[in-house]
Amino acid sequence: MSEKISLLNITPSHDNGLAIDLTLDGTRKKPHSSAQSKQSLGNNNLSALINSGKIYTKRTSGYFQRLRRYFSYLLLMLFFVMPWLEIADKPAVLFDLAAQKFHILGMTFWPQDAVFLVYLLVLACILLVAATLIIGRVWCGFSCPQTIWTFLFIWVEDKCEGDRNQRIKLDKQPWSRTKVLRKSTKHTLWILISLATAYSFVGYFYPIKALLIDTFTMQMHYLAVFWLIFFVLGTYLNAGWLREKVCLHMCPYARFQAVMYSEDTLVVTYDTQRGEQRGKRKASTDLATTGLGDCVDCSLCVQVCPVDIDIRDGMQYPCIDCGLCIDACDTVMHKMGYASGLIRFSSANDPSGKRNLLKLPKIQWLMALSLTATLVFGYSLLARESLSIDVIRDRSGILYQLRDGGIENTYQVKINNKGAELESFQLAIIAKAPFILRGNNNIYVQRGKVDTLMVSVWIALEDINDYQSDIRFVVRSSHQTGENEAPIAEQLSSFIAPVN
Ligand code: SF4
Ligand code: SF4
Repeated sequence: MSEKISLLNITPSHDNGLAIDLTLDGTRKKPHSSAQSKQSLGNNNLSALINSGKIYTKRTSGYFQRLRRYFSYLLLMLFFVMPWLEIADKPAVLFDLAAQKFHILGMTFWPQDAVFLVYLLVLACILLVAATLIIGRVWCGFSCPQTIWTFLFIWVEDKCEGDRNQRIKLDKQPWSRTKVLRKSTKHTLWILISLATAYSFVGYFYPIKALLIDTFTMQMHYLAVFWLIFFVLGTYLNAGWLREKVCLHMCPYARFQAVMYSEDTLVVTYDTQRGEQRGKRKASTDLATTGLGDCVDCSLCVQVCPVDIDIRDGMQYPCIDCGLCIDACDTVMHKMGYASGLIRFSSANDPSGKRNLLKLPKIQWLMALSLTATLVFGYSLLARESLSIDVIRDRSGILYQLRDGGIENTYQVKINNKGAELESFQLAIIAKAPFILRGNNNIYVQRGKVDTLMVSVWIALEDINDYQSDIRFVVRSSHQTGENEAPIAEQLSSFIAPVN
């Protein structure tokens, strides 16, 4: 009798690697022998996977391959183009650490805007949890940089050395002129992509045009040199050599994503009921008389898998839900004249994978939460003050009476024009007592800049009533004249005076 297990039981097992022997109907089954599929031999065993060395991924085409390709094109284009774009004479995206300001899509953020980073991280977490709960490791399979760059490098490998069988053959061949040429072309292209990646990445922190000029004039900051070398090596090693091993042994998300799964989570699964008894046959073979299932044991699903696992052995920890095995198997099913979907996205509660997930209350709650978090983030961004004022009373000086019979306090006023259209402002004070603002109160602050000025506030001795009085510093447009005009920014400070 078969034993029912939960989708959440994702536990490493020593005898069967990290495989979860889960099939569509939630029953455990024995892993297949090497006679059934040479690729399945030991592929579910972690140590075997590490020692298995290079994975020769077969080229495939289909719905999920197209989907990932277009999505990768979009993300790669954004990544490489964004550092070059400018919005309103400012870089579209530049994390200018030296100047302590971030330019993002025409907005300038300062260290005091760190709360938006917190909002963004919370929003990203909610969206990641929601996406994982609904479609498993969709992030890993379709949008993780490790996956995208690995696919880009495999594409280059495929163009230089040919498809899977040609690559295996080439690697077995002794060194020859052709082999050296193909291998050196591949590695040169990999290094060029790594260089472009490193320059683009550093270009998010160091204006990219200046970075290129500084490279050619050999005037680059040593930190920029360090990060360029780091990212060239990182990209080349990660996408060229380590590939799936990064997901298996280095990525923290891969470690805890299982806790976000539920019995409704869609994951790539093999339909055991329909596929077994697997076996080779002709398209004309009568399945009813032979007792065969729909799986023709062609092993294409294993050959296209970027992490080299056999999905027929059940849901497994290394699987990144990329859907390539679905594409490969659907092609075979189509050729054999069988229905597609022997391997498909499905969940423990919905083996067919056809249920409308949007009708599940849990999913509706998650989507509502994601939408609310997005709206809160969007609103807080739009409502962000475009100008801020920071007033610090000089606490170092001792109180003294001026010859003119008044008392004076000095203040450092910092005006930060985060993106206000205006650049010319007036500083004023509002208080109950007849305080007078002394010093230059006309300020000119360019968009995206901070200006600091020293001002003093004076009051006649006979007008002092309290040891400490509230004073509100306000910034108005220089075009506004009336005191009743609403200030653009304001900050409360205090005035200290001897009462007697
Ligand atoms: S088993 Fe299928 S979905 Fe999972 S990583 Fe391999 S090809 Fe992608
Ligand atoms: S691709 Fe489909 S038919 Fe071929 S071995 Fe995999 S599951 Fe079986």
